[in-house]
Amino acid sequence: MPRESKESKIKRAAAVEQRMQEHYGEGQASLDYDGDPFRLVVAVVLSAQCTDAAVNKATPALFAAYPTPYDMAQARVSDIEKLIHSLGFFRSKAKSLVGLSQMIVSDFDGEVPRTLEELQKLPGVGRKTANVVMCEAFKDAQGIAVDTHVYRIAHRLKFAGPSADTPDKTEKALLAIHPKEQWLFINHQWVHFGRDYCRAQRPLCGECFINDLCPSFAH
Ligand code: SF4
Repeated sequence: MPRESKESKIKRAAAVEQRMQEHYGEGQASLDYDGDPFRLVVAVVLSAQCTDAAVNKATPALFAAYPTPYDMAQARVSDIEKLIHSLGFFRSKAKSLVGLSQMIVSDFDGEVPRTLEELQKLPGVGRKTANVVMCEAFKDAQGIAVDTHVYRIAHRLKFAGPSADTPDKTEKALLAIHPKEQWLFINHQWVHFGRDYCRAQRPLCGECFINDLCPSFAH
């Protein structure tokens, strides 16, 4: 297949996004956080390598015991571990939760910071988590959160080439072809799409509503 021009990729990306809007609207987060940016940071940190449903089962007890960063900053890591032990990597996540709460209190007056750079200073918060928080809590997209679904779909759609072999490089490829006003929605929509159609194993290509736009679809 000849190399696709950037112009053609931009057109295809616009067509994909239009269908996603028609199918999923703006999409919705599946993590429960009561509209509180701190709880969202906690939930997203907990969601690494875990399903959102498992996180949503664990967080009510956690937030009841430690509702604010001030409460969690004073918690013992071992007490947090007990509340999240059903989740993978619970020991390192418990350590991150106490660490990030302490930093929010000491460096940011108890408020979750509102920039991608500052968010990434928090223990356990990488670029993906920071992007989710900027989009979801602050509605101020500074990038596109590339999780396992977004990574897989970007590569199947060939919006990201073989050399974009990390989430950061894949995000850069997506940002180059999607206008900024779409960045807010792509993660939500593609997570749903990745669960419903473009699954990791046996994607439902025959039923997929963008298969005419997908170079990976075997006609
Ligand atoms: S046609 Fe298949 S590979 Fe392509 S986007 Fe749809 S489900 Fe994914």
